[in-house]
Amino acid sequence: MSHCPNCKKKIAMSKAFCSRTCKEEYFHAIQIQIPQKFVMKNFVHNPDEEDRIKNFKAFADRHSWDFNLVLDKIYKEAVRSNYLDQDHPGYLKWKEEVDKEGNTVYYWEKRD
Ligand SMILES: [Zn+2]
Repeated sequence: MSHCPNCKKKIAMSKAFCSRTCKEEYFHAIQIQIPQKFVMKNFVHNPDEEDRIKNFKAFADRHSWDFNLVLDKIYKEAVRSNYLDQDHPGYLKWKEEVDKEGNTVYYWEKRD
């Protein structure tokens, strides 16, 4: 048995990834470069989480990168740099939904 390099699931030796989606996500994630200064600026000098998320969204859009993959890397970097606690549930999915009144609402969804 070997492991999928993206999700760490067990896979057959003959396979490189568990699924096509995982393969695409893996190669997409490799391209994403998060400048350390950008992470520091947001976590050290910006206490407002919602505002921080807006900056991350703008950053992801500017580079045409997947927002959730960008968030994942940013939060891992923030934990690594001790801007967040080691047990911070950083690897969450940021979801966007439109409510009944037509307003866009944002919330965290736990990754499986
Ligand atoms: Zn996988």
